[in-house]
Amino acid sequence: MSKTVLFKNITVVTPDEAGKIQVYSDAYVAVRGDRIIYVGEERAQAVRALMEAQRESGGSQIGFDEYSGKDKILLPTFANAHSHIPMVLMRNSADDMSLEDWLFKRILPREEHLRKEDIYYASLLGIAEMIQGGIGASADMYFMADETACAALQAGFRMNLCHDGKFHDESGWKADRAGLRSFRKTFHGAGGGLIRTSLMIHSIYLYPEELYPELVAEAAEEDVSIQVHVAETRTEVANCLSKYGKTPARALADFGVFDRPCIAAHGVHLTEEDMEILAASDVTVSHNPASNMKLASGFADVAGMQRHGIRVAIGTDGCASNNNADFYTDMRLASFIAKGSKFDPLQLPAGDILTMATYNGYRGMGFSDCGRIAAGMMADLQIVNTDTPAMWPVNNPVSALVYSGGVSSVESVMIAGRFVKYHGELTSIDLEKVKAETKKRAAYITQFA
Ligand SMILES: [Zn+2]
Repeated sequence: MSKTVLFKNITVVTPDEAGKIQVYSDAYVAVRGDRIIYVGEERAQAVRALMEAQRESGGSQIGFDEYSGKDKILLPTFANAHSHIPMVLMRNSADDMSLEDWLFKRILPREEHLRKEDIYYASLLGIAEMIQGGIGASADMYFMADETACAALQAGFRMNLCHDGKFHDESGWKADRAGLRSFRKTFHGAGGGLIRTSLMIHSIYLYPEELYPELVAEAAEEDVSIQVHVAETRTEVANCLSKYGKTPARALADFGVFDRPCIAAHGVHLTEEDMEILAASDVTVSHNPASNMKLASGFADVAGMQRHGIRVAIGTDGCASNNNADFYTDMRLASFIAKGSKFDPLQLPAGDILTMATYNGYRGMGFSDCGRIAAGMMADLQIVNTDTPAMWPVNNPVSALVYSGGVSSVESVMIAGRFVKYHGELTSIDLEKVKAETKKRAAYITQFA
């Protein structure tokens, strides 16, 4: 049930309409249904807006809950632009390996044995972790995505989920248009708009050449966006150059992939021309700093992408390559890598990081009414408690969030007007049951490689 809530005397940190971070002290924020209906300094106006909205809707609820904002920061939930949520089952079970060994020797052989309920419980676990840490939405790429969609709907979690729109028969790989159509029909817009659907084109290295144009046609026919990995490692680029005589970005562009709105994960090894290609298309690059460092893929040139006008968001990647979904760590790493690798402390300041983490990520996923705290926007919010030794004194709330905030400072999380974490407790997921199920299922799946 959606709540009617008044956050009072709270510090609001939010991107504005242009994506620039603004800070409001001692603010009032009113939420009615799934939307924010007032943001400002006037308690009386906030109360009036709430009462008028209640009268107009003819609802039976009278009054509203108050949420004290003393020593708290209210900011949009984070949009995780790249994840493989069900991989939580393989957390800490394939480490200190090259990406190619990791993928072909450990992950793919195990994935052949995954069953539907493994995906479902793993999704609930991954979603629980994300909610705990202030993530309100994720762009996820995995198979059996209908199980993840069911988990997200049950948890009240927002997702852009891509369908693996291909299948294999005696004559080879085929585009599975009927599968995508059915997935889209079942889930697109489900849960009052919580779920958006898209098509998976995993990468430039996993499909036969003739399948790419077919998959793009499939996405166009169903009018969905695409999630794809691009230029994650040097090996990927070298293999693509020898097979196609082009970089991965150029090859995917020539196949028409970037004619659709896309989330392109990684973008670690992009040439100037690649960046021009991405900037000219509706592509959001998901920068995944922890995964890129752990798998020694390299350092993405985020400043270069920004200079070209590419929308860059932040992603955790899967838990088999990170090994958690700690978005606060990813934000901090994104900033530190940019500064350290360029010998320039002015690179990627805290405000830019927050814009990438919220505004850019939600746009990339197609949730354009999320990622900002303003009247009329969706109430996808997190409340950070700064009354802790690690965040005190706050001095600058933007710096506090990016440079000294952490998962443990997230007190509450609201998605579409519903508290999914309330004063430290998850409200929509039975975590003990999910932990028991996933422990058993992890033991099963990790025995295969
Ligand atoms: Zn990935």
